[in-house]
Amino acid sequence: MLQHTSEPSFRQSVDMMFTRAVALMDLSPGLEEKIRVCNSTYTVRFGVKLRGRIHTFTGYRSVHSEHMEPVKGGIRYAMSVNQDEVEALAALMTYKCALVEAPFGGSKGGLCIDPKDWEEDELERITRRFAYELIKRDLIHPSQNVPAPDMGTGEREMAWIADQFARMHTSELNARACVTGKPLTAHGIAGRVEATGRGVQYALQEFFRHPEDMKRAGLDGSLDGKRVIVQGLGNVGYHAAKFLEEEDGCRIIGVIERDGAIFDPAGLPVERVRQHLIGQGGVRGFPGAKYLAEGARLLEEDCDILIPAAFEAAINLTNAERIQAPLIIEAANGPVTAGADEILRRKGCVIIPDMYANAGGVTVSYFEWVKNLSHIRFGRMQRRQEESRHRMLIDELERLTGKSVSATFSEKFLKGADELALVRSGLEDTMRGAYQSIAEVWRARPEVTDLRTAAYLVSIGRVAAAYKSLGL
Ligand code: NAD
Repeated sequence: MLQHTSEPSFRQSVDMMFTRAVALMDLSPGLEEKIRVCNSTYTVRFGVKLRGRIHTFTGYRSVHSEHMEPVKGGIRYAMSVNQDEVEALAALMTYKCALVEAPFGGSKGGLCIDPKDWEEDELERITRRFAYELIKRDLIHPSQNVPAPDMGTGEREMAWIADQFARMHTSELNARACVTGKPLTAHGIAGRVEATGRGVQYALQEFFRHPEDMKRAGLDGSLDGKRVIVQGLGNVGYHAAKFLEEEDGCRIIGVIERDGAIFDPAGLPVERVRQHLIGQGGVRGFPGAKYLAEGARLLEEDCDILIPAAFEAAINLTNAERIQAPLIIEAANGPVTAGADEILRRKGCVIIPDMYANAGGVTVSYFEWVKNLSHIRFGRMQRRQEESRHRMLIDELERLTGKSVSATFSEKFLKGADELALVRSGLEDTMRGAYQSIAEVWRARPEVTDLRTAAYLVSIGRVAAAYKSLGL
């Protein structure tokens, strides 16, 4: 990926965006500094004997803010992981949790590893060893620090971590709440895998409910037929694109992946592209689509909505001027650098910021943590009772009118909410509420010209209030 040499680092970018927001707030300099800095970063180097020799791995766990505990944030597996990046991501977690009112401080972890270099059993040994190092120091703990998946990790790694914690805390009743994003069969929650992508969809749906906000991006109408380009068809990008295509009628005209990009103005079938990607290891050769070896060029193509959903700094000083999309939704963390953000704002592009756009994952992680602490799945107590009350209502309605309600209405109305329905409802409510709190600031304060600054103002205000109530 090409990046300008004068581009600030990811952490500096986050700091710059923070500074721009606090300049519009009335915080004491001491409190401002307290919120900005990362409280601690633990670096660990550990050895694992694999393939006949000892391999040394480097991992990090940063805690940005403990104004609420536990702290929360994913664990990333990538060769590019470094302290600067982990600290920036931990800071974003603080602001993200505050924005969606998930009662956590911010944290993040990472391991310098390319998961593709290792067999599954080797990865399990490496993950368990990394988890052991963090658990020993309460950097994984249901009441102290609760990780989740991020780039390069998923349900499988979370299940290993949960099991490692349980082995080291055999009498801990709440052991399974030490990590979220676990498989459903290992005390996870329905709807977690797709939660971040689903949240991106809900965020766009909410944006498109407000014509005055759409107008600022020069857009009108509904999501139906809007042309979308997605970068990264992984967990987040795939689910976001799939839901937008199947449920909102968006046309996914471009997909950018590691090996290049594919383009079809008539719309790409997301599910088939994903299967091709899994089967062939890339998008190249997808039938009927135009292929571009220099994939990042497609970020600059004409479209209505651009969804960077892969990695940091994808949109930077080298390409920001050429970006044509009037609306960018940051499904990835930090995909737009501070410099690019300035250029895009000047061009009138509306950016739905990462701390809000991809908060669906942490929101459903919060639900999973609550489920684990309450030791019961959502909906278990009330579902059938709800169904029988609805049955009574339909029976009485039919008796009074002498007419039958339609079979489709009856089927929908009778169905009591199961865990998945409740998770979706909680996630949608959260995404809608958070957008409204940001957009209110964006609309009401003329000096706040973008959604990112508005989001920082809302979240920093909440973190500051939490610190003040602690007496700081
Ligand atoms: P993932 O590993 O599942 O997917 C990343 C995708 O990006 C992969 O398909 C990969 O092939 C692709 N990619 C990698 N390099 C690329 C390149 N140079 N050009 C184009 N595509 C490339 O990861 P994910 O979990 O979907 O995370 C993606 C982003 O979303 C990250 O920034 C992550 O921090 C953020 N995020 C993830 C979650 C979550 O719940 N998984 C939650 C919040 C934020």
